[in-house]
Amino acid sequence: MLNADLHCHSVVSDGTLTPEELAERAHRNGVELWSLTDHDEIGGQHRALAAAHALGLHYLCGTEISVSFAGKTVHIVGLGFDPDHPDLVEGLRQTRGGRGARAREMSEGLDRVGIHGTFEGALRYAGNPELVSRTHFARYLVESGVCKDTYEVFRKYLTEGKPGYVPHRWARLQDAVGWLRAAGGLAVIAHPARYDFTPNEEYALFTEFKAHGGIGVEVVTGSHSTQEALRYAEMALEFGLAGSRGSDFHSPQESRTDLGALPWLPGQLTPVWDLLRDRIR
Ligand code: AMP
Ligand code: MN
Ligand code: MN
Ligand code: MN
Repeated sequence: MLNADLHCHSVVSDGTLTPEELAERAHRNGVELWSLTDHDEIGGQHRALAAAHALGLHYLCGTEISVSFAGKTVHIVGLGFDPDHPDLVEGLRQTRGGRGARAREMSEGLDRVGIHGTFEGALRYAGNPELVSRTHFARYLVESGVCKDTYEVFRKYLTEGKPGYVPHRWARLQDAVGWLRAAGGLAVIAHPARYDFTPNEEYALFTEFKAHGGIGVEVVTGSHSTQEALRYAEMALEFGLAGSRGSDFHSPQESRTDLGALPWLPGQLTPVWDLLRDRIR
């Protein structure tokens, strides 16, 4: 078995470590094949690749694209693409585009319940001004004493129906998959258990994803229980999708699953990295 960790975040999106610090941590934790998958961003790819090479760590280019599907946000992990491909670079630039205005609206929603200054507060936490995310709001609200941890912030303020939640139109599923394919990469449905879809909606997601040329599904991730991993291993087999494995590590303080510290991918699945051998750098 290969210790592959193909999902994590740096300061280029909503993680707290630099690409170099993540490479170092992955290597120390025994990761053998690594990918940095910042939200809607590939600005950290060249740094991650260089840091991985310096440590003798095998690397796949990565990203995690925000997609709107059936009224919810779905994440698509992309792996093994050319980070300079214009379709992907432009598609991700557009996907990042609405984040500033959304953050202002989130801040206005929080103003209405008496929590002020959150736009400026969140921005101070964002390492990349194009990528203000709910995570940065959550960190600011913890720092300013409104909540005890980021989980409480999401539960009380940043999820659907709560004062700081703003519905947003992200990329279309077919576009996200298309950009990744154009750039020579492969698309993977991230943490499927997280979406709270009905069985019909989930079936539609997998069916459409596959029809657009999607290749894999994250079966083993920091946000799946053992039961959920088994369930999505079965779904992967049913839909003829390969399986992926990634911690979704964001921060030593916040993340429950460390880089590389995951159960193995169930043996009956084709690992996505078997399909990306010529893309490993
Ligand atoms: P955004 O892309 O701005 O909507 O932010 C999404 C990010 O917020 C995710 O990638 C997670 O890092 C984080 N997140 C989302 N939901 C939760 C939650 N319930 N608890 C903690 N973090 C969350
Ligand atoms: Mn995140
Ligand atoms: Mn995600
Ligand atoms: Mn993620």
